[in-house]
Amino acid sequence: MDDGRWTKMSSLIQAKNLTRRYSDHVMALDHVDLTVERGEWLAMMGPSGSGKTTLLNLLGCLDRPTEGEIFFENRLISTFSAQELNRFRRENVGIVFQQFHLIGYLTALENVMLAQYYHSMVDREEAKRALEDVGLGERIHHYPSQLSGGEQQRVCVARALINQPKLILADEPTGNLDEKSEETVLDLFRRLHAKGHTILMVTHDVTVGKMADRQLQLEHGRIAGSYLSPLQAEEDIENFLKRLWELREEGKLSYDYLQKNNFLDHAGVLKYMQAKELLEVKDRKIYFTSAGELRMRDIIRRHRLAEILFSKALHMDKEESAVEACQFEHMLNPDITERICTFFHHPKKCPHGKEIPGGKCCERP
Ligand SMILES: [Zn+2]
Ligand SMILES: [Zn+2]
Repeated sequence: MDDGRWTKMSSLIQAKNLTRRYSDHVMALDHVDLTVERGEWLAMMGPSGSGKTTLLNLLGCLDRPTEGEIFFENRLISTFSAQELNRFRRENVGIVFQQFHLIGYLTALENVMLAQYYHSMVDREEAKRALEDVGLGERIHHYPSQLSGGEQQRVCVARALINQPKLILADEPTGNLDEKSEETVLDLFRRLHAKGHTILMVTHDVTVGKMADRQLQLEHGRIAGSYLSPLQAEEDIENFLKRLWELREEGKLSYDYLQKNNFLDHAGVLKYMQAKELLEVKDRKIYFTSAGELRMRDIIRRHRLAEILFSKALHMDKEESAVEACQFEHMLNPDITERICTFFHHPKKCPHGKEIPGGKCCERP
């Protein structure tokens, strides 16, 4: 987005200075700052006692911090009463535990319907569909004891999704499963992620962690490391480059400005970009390499052409087209980009009136 709010608007959760003490001596979480983006799959790893489950519980509205703030969709939830937090969680969070917590004398279908009952209204057809979605259409009348571990966990996922939660929490969801069941459950999480669900998962399994967009390593109640999957790193780089271009356009680009305005929260991205020789930081100044310039120009061009496409062809307003463009721009290949540009007669300005860098297609008569 050209007005510079895209980082904030896309975030689902922002946690600041998050601290959880269980007594004077036990500091389970120690001043943690964290942002969870919409659609992100975040894996929390670390030894037991590192604070990963505490963090999961705080972000998932199961617990309240001793200190610090949590914003969930820009609502300050850390000051909610226990009752308010409960209600908020029921409406916004779906939870999958390591232990299945299914009721033994109810069928798979009835277990899902029970969750509906707690949430709002019982709807048998919807519950059936939810089980079909997780591949259990044939097993809806089975009792938990007649289902394999993997199948039981899939019932739990169906149950967690019943209120269309904005956030899915999963605490070691494959911890009790054999290898084959683990594979089917992980496949399910992959599909949920592809559909745009936001997933926070605690796991000790490195392979599972690698499926996530980002792995957080916790130690002694602090975030000791944060690693992006290669694909996510590329998208983050593009988003960051886009922002840098916009700042330069506004004449505000400097290292101090980035630092002051919390752009360096993801300091890893900047380091990664230096390693990939897209830019250099010298004496607190930022210099782009020619590869960096090209890459930046390219992403801005894709973003603004996508805006044109959404506003002109689909009649979205400026803001809506900007939000949609933020998703779409990462998927545009050079050929499609040129076609969009040509179709709209090589537009010079985006709907916000910002300049669209020209491409090869624009040079031809
Ligand atoms: Zn624009
Ligand atoms: Zn063109």
